[in-house]
Amino acid sequence: MEVKDVVIIGAGPVGLFGATMASLHGLSATVIESLPELGGQLYALYPEKPIYDVAGFHGITGKDLALRLIDQAQHFSPTFVVGQAVESIRPVEIEDELLYDVVTATATHRSRAVLVTVGIGAFIPRKLPAEGADHFEGNGVYYLMPPLDHFHDRKVLVVGGGDTALDWTLAIAPKARRLTLIHRRVQFRGQEASIQQIEETPNIDVKAPYALLRVEGESQVERVVVKNIGSGEEEVWPMDDVVGGLGFLPSLGPAKTWGLHIEGNTIIVDPHSMATTLPGIYACGDVAQYPGKVKLIATGFGEIGIAIAQIRTYIDPSKHGLPHSTNLKGVPL
Ligand SMILES: Cc1cc2nc3c(=O)[nH]c(=O)nc-3n(C[C@H](O)[C@H](O)[C@H](O)COP(=O)(O)OP(=O)(O)OC[C@H]3O[C@@H](n4cnc5c(N)ncnc54)[C@H](O)[C@@H]3O)c2cc1C
Repeated sequence: MEVKDVVIIGAGPVGLFGATMASLHGLSATVIESLPELGGQLYALYPEKPIYDVAGFHGITGKDLALRLIDQAQHFSPTFVVGQAVESIRPVEIEDELLYDVVTATATHRSRAVLVTVGIGAFIPRKLPAEGADHFEGNGVYYLMPPLDHFHDRKVLVVGGGDTALDWTLAIAPKARRLTLIHRRVQFRGQEASIQQIEETPNIDVKAPYALLRVEGESQVERVVVKNIGSGEEEVWPMDDVVGGLGFLPSLGPAKTWGLHIEGNTIIVDPHSMATTLPGIYACGDVAQYPGKVKLIATGFGEIGIAIAQIRTYIDPSKHGLPHSTNLKGVPL
């Protein structure tokens, strides 16, 4: 079985940058991502939202930053595995060397070190409590954003009153023929600027307080039945798509069983090294916790520098720190 220097679990921004840094500094790397797409929260949760606090950009959307990180990582040819969730990490000793088997439902990836960058874990959406929603999930009812072009010239209902619902409303509206946003309460909880932008967008209708009761259709979504909570009356609206924007439940899922020191939905690390409590296993990004931690992309990138330096020394104790990339020879341009 092939042995990589490092297996990186999770291909959000931090895991992607980890792949770049590992490869750049001579470590062979495999990146395993449970979703079919790379990019983590950037791609799955806020693809169209501009980020203003990533160094080098005065503003860049989640999707564009993800694409740049993917492009940068692919340049150095690490192995990418998508659509496989890591279920367990098993230590194996071969010729006195401690290795790890990183196991998914369909494959085992062996490595000398492991870098855990699982962020907030699996994105488990709060499901719509409406009859028929389960039946059409992935075919007219969505919780993770399908490609925005899907919504071109369609009638779309977005459900929810927080930032997830407001972000997706603003992302989908430019494509949709008509977008209706409903919320159970009159007051929305999301950012004031988003609410104002929604009010100013001509093809968005805001209906509150309204609740979604049923999603109906034959082979695809054709209509929704909603309740006007104020009057108590039911209304039927023709609809092509329903987007659940009720937010996500944080869940580390299988990572809780990997023998690491877990607190809540985080892994406790030593911030001097990003080492976990198990030898050769490191964690960075949103999942890594230590006093003073700030959950930002910029923080995660910095942690990667520390972790990759440590992993390099862990694998080859004669190596210390990280050379400046400008001093590296043979880097492909
Ligand atoms: C709406 C919103 C706006 C934000 N705005 C900003 C901002 O302006 N600036 C900023 O710095 N930060 C912002 N953030 C936070 C930022 O997105 C996170 O800090 C960042 O995504 C963390 O990156 P990560 O790689 O650690 O984790 P994630 O992006 O969460 O990626 C983790 C990846 O690991 C995968 N994974 C999980 N479990 C497994 C498993 N068992 N096997 C394989 N893969 C697994 C997940 O599918 C995911 O793709 C925002 C977040 C949200 C939700």
